[in-house]
Amino acid sequence: MKKTLTILGSINADHVISVPHFAKPGETLTGHHYHIAYGGKGANQAVAAARLSDEHTQVNFIGCIGDDDLGRTMKNAFEQDGINTQFIHQIAHQTTGIAMIQVAASGENSIVISAGANGCLDENIVEQSRSQIEQADLLLMQLETPLPAVIKAAQIAKNNGVKVVLNPAPAQKLPDELLANLNMITPNETEAEILTGVKVTDLESAVKSAEIFHQKGIETVLITLGSKGVFVSHQGQQEIVAGFKVNAVDTTAAGDTFNGAFLIALLDGKPLQDAIRFAHVAAAISVTREGAQPSIPTRAETLDFLK
Ligand code: ATP
Repeated sequence: MKKTLTILGSINADHVISVPHFAKPGETLTGHHYHIAYGGKGANQAVAAARLSDEHTQVNFIGCIGDDDLGRTMKNAFEQDGINTQFIHQIAHQTTGIAMIQVAASGENSIVISAGANGCLDENIVEQSRSQIEQADLLLMQLETPLPAVIKAAQIAKNNGVKVVLNPAPAQKLPDELLANLNMITPNETEAEILTGVKVTDLESAVKSAEIFHQKGIETVLITLGSKGVFVSHQGQQEIVAGFKVNAVDTTAAGDTFNGAFLIALLDGKPLQDAIRFAHVAAAISVTREGAQPSIPTRAETLDFLK
């Protein structure tokens, strides 16, 4: 029997253009190196999970694309990665989610987002996708799609004994009814501070932050610490597991790669510490490469690094 990871979340296409400086009102500016990069936290995590899994694991993705070629092309790319796209809903009269990103010579970004079809991922879509949640072993979600759908999906999962993992990014205040249905939460330091009010700077503050999540009913807390690794709190065991030292060139999607890889390793049956190690390797490889989805390694590359 295959293990199943269902991921619910956003799909975005980043339109990136390098500019000498940000365009001023009324100015027409010549840019260069225009490219479209596939992203969106949900999509990145699904791609990571699919690339890092083997034939014993199925990755399902619940998300929304617009009625446009961009959405259809991205859906095809997910299929190439081995993701089950049966519950990627194409929304009529909507565009696929996009971000317009100007990258200035100074290295600064200026970003404008259009949620497009991502904003249509509502409770009805969750209801239509119910079977993918009920039949999963794990459900992974983020917060780039509307909160009512996340709350409903967590409730369906909980009612069916499916474990729920939330990567609470981008951070926002969350109702207790959602937190109570989570088995695991995976914020970064900033998100942990917004959700618990505790600034995470060291082991002691991470423990304090985790205790607040535990009080809400969440069994496992992982706070990702960038190049420092991850803090984990589970059944009274609390420690920082260091990451791998690499020459980082672009940390986009490091957290997404970590989340996808970590859950695949848990579904493989790896103990928590080993699953973290596997995810650290995958995320470390991703930061040595540019972009979101193009930077995510395969399982073979990740296992090679561990040899
Ligand atoms: P992002 O929003 O960029 O996707 P995040 O803020 O959600 O990332 P981080 O805490 O920055 O997540 O990083 C997640 C994981 O990625 C870390 O736990 C680590 O495994 C890996 N990682 C991040 N930055 C580095 C780095 N500079 N070197 C090695 N590993 C890194």
